[in-house]
Amino acid sequence: TRRKLVAGNWKMHGTSADLTEVRAVAEAAAQLGERVDVALCLPATLIHRAAEAVPGFAIGAQDIHMADRGAHTGDVCAAMLHDAGATLTIVGHSERRDAHREDDAAVRAKAEAGLRSGLKVILCVGESDAERESGRAVDVVTGQLRASLPQVHVTTATFAVAYEPIWAIGTGKVPSTADIAEMHGALRRTLVESLGGEGNGVRILYGGSVKGSNAAEIFAVPDVDGALVGGASLKAMDFLPIVEAAA
Ligand code: 13P
Repeated sequence: TRRKLVAGNWKMHGTSADLTEVRAVAEAAAQLGERVDVALCLPATLIHRAAEAVPGFAIGAQDIHMADRGAHTGDVCAAMLHDAGATLTIVGHSERRDAHREDDAAVRAKAEAGLRSGLKVILCVGESDAERESGRAVDVVTGQLRASLPQVHVTTATFAVAYEPIWAIGTGKVPSTADIAEMHGALRRTLVESLGGEGNGVRILYGGSVKGSNAAEIFAVPDVDGALVGGASLKAMDFLPIVEAAA
């Protein structure tokens, strides 16, 4: 069976004062030991200090450039984040796809760049409200996965997928457990088609308005192997109940 992964995504929140939250999460995660994998994806500015403050705990980035180096003003590449102490990165978050016009090809290139530099990768996919309403959600999301899946060898240890319906992000709305099961099942089949047996080991996280109060129900859905948590990851007191529900 797949051990669950609960990853926080702080988005554009947090300064050095918030390192106390990182320490609290890392301490509690260490207590839970091998029962659950926990990570925090922080703003790039906090990664180095956080990684030094909590050695052994997984600190991640939220995005990377697709190139290994070069004339890309303002951008940060995977090797720099790895050097700063990150062990993983999110790619393809809908907020990047939307606000920075990242298409599936760009997301695939970013996933491959992360893996090349030794970062584990969480690849995000998810449908809009209109796509859900029109009944096309499963086709859209499995299509995104096929088109953005890295074309290099991945394993359970190096790669995870996060299903994040855009309409559920930061809204308090969550799909029904039946809808989550349908989507995660379709993503699992897509992974197995593309990766063979390894596709059974790759974790599929759910993201979108996960809280302490709904986490256990979501984690009980077949093929839900953890969560990608936004707002409720900013404070240890909100995040840790979600981690405990997965342990
Ligand atoms: P919320 O948990 O705030 O809905 O955000 C989900 C998300 O986008 C995580 O990447």
